[in-house]
Amino acid sequence: MKSKTELRIAIIGSGIGGASAAVALRHAGFNVDVYEQASAIKEVGAGIGLRPPSIRYFKKWGLLEEIERVTHKSVLMEILSVQGEVLLEEKWPALTDDPEEKWARLIHRADCLDTLINAIPSEFIHLNHKCKNIVRYEDYAEIEFDNGVKVEADLVIAADGIRSLTRSLFFSQAEPVFHGYHAYRALVNEDETYGLASENTLRIFCDDKINYYLLPLKYRKQVSVDITVPHEDRSGRPNVPKEDMLNQLKHFHPGLQKIAENINHFDVRSLYDIDPVEQWTNSCIALLGDAAHSMLHNQGQGANMAIQDAGVLAECLLEADSVEEALQKYESLRKPIGTLFQNLSRQFHSDKEETAFPEKEFLEKTHE
Ligand SMILES: Cc1cc2nc3c(=O)[nH]c(=O)nc-3n(C[C@H](O)[C@H](O)[C@H](O)COP(=O)(O)OP(=O)(O)OC[C@H]3O[C@@H](n4cnc5c(N)ncnc54)[C@H](O)[C@@H]3O)c2cc1C
Repeated sequence: MKSKTELRIAIIGSGIGGASAAVALRHAGFNVDVYEQASAIKEVGAGIGLRPPSIRYFKKWGLLEEIERVTHKSVLMEILSVQGEVLLEEKWPALTDDPEEKWARLIHRADCLDTLINAIPSEFIHLNHKCKNIVRYEDYAEIEFDNGVKVEADLVIAADGIRSLTRSLFFSQAEPVFHGYHAYRALVNEDETYGLASENTLRIFCDDKINYYLLPLKYRKQVSVDITVPHEDRSGRPNVPKEDMLNQLKHFHPGLQKIAENINHFDVRSLYDIDPVEQWTNSCIALLGDAAHSMLHNQGQGANMAIQDAGVLAECLLEADSVEEALQKYESLRKPIGTLFQNLSRQFHSDKEETAFPEKEFLEKTHE
């Protein structure tokens, strides 16, 4: 394999996955260039819970202080009835070899992305570069962008999201799968939640169809509101009146209805994921993050998986004698857990469930 500094690595996409890959590889001593189709880097959406295996990577990359500054630790999460009665209260499960690490650090996705992007010198991030084709040769690839630029790379990391062009060119042409739900997401001030949000606890109010999340972002004095309701309109950004959602909340606690009524603007999306993809890598191209294993948000693992993919890929590259060997190792380590969470994430929360963390059954045992 070429030396670390000679190896030409191109990352397509600067979401949490691509940015994590850039940080991980730069930390390991590789040179990388990131190509992003958008003219600016911005993240929308909801609060998320960064889990201990992901925080361990921030620590490894020298970003522990930065990530702690924009997160706060949560040890509990609760499932509640639509009227606010606590049905389940659980500690976040241990996902590492340290049984003390039963927590999540709550963060807004934008702050997670900013923390990563700020660690990458801007000259290595190329905006307005939409990849339109990739041609693979024996041990390198040529990437063509819609602005006419062409670059060659010994390794292409495709972190180009759920509708990944790279995936459809090399690995699978299956379309994303619609799940019959719309997600409404917004941020509100913490003092506008009628006492229903808890300072450090992710709360999910639900029945058998609707999930209503209140995720506190204490460091921002805000709460992330995420309401998932059934709907048949499958357009990616559905243009539906807010009343469609409000009408489905009529049996919810009046305070929960009020929170939703008071929000002027929601980010509304139809919920899609992808079926597991048989192969994520070839001799010089690797899928990473949502491009490899886009999943529903129900287990809060999409961003976590992308960060951990990046960490593992960098470790594999450091250890292997060739890019191909590194990619095979990466795929063998990451695909089983990515597929597990893809499958588990298809379960919506309900007021009948016995655990909010079905992964415990699969993962806690391995660390006992
Ligand atoms: C609203 C919302 C809430 C979520 N909640 C959670 C949660 O609670 N917990 C959790 O862990 N995860 C959550 N997720 C999922 C998580 O945010 C994603 O899994 C994660 O951000 C995936 O990152 P990614 O970089 O792989 O993909 P993306 O964030 O989709 O980034 C892909 C990037 O590639 C760029 N791109 C695409 N095509 C091209 C191209 N042809 N050329 C160049 N650039 C291209 C895009 O512009 C984009 O910047 C949520 C997602 C959403 C949308």
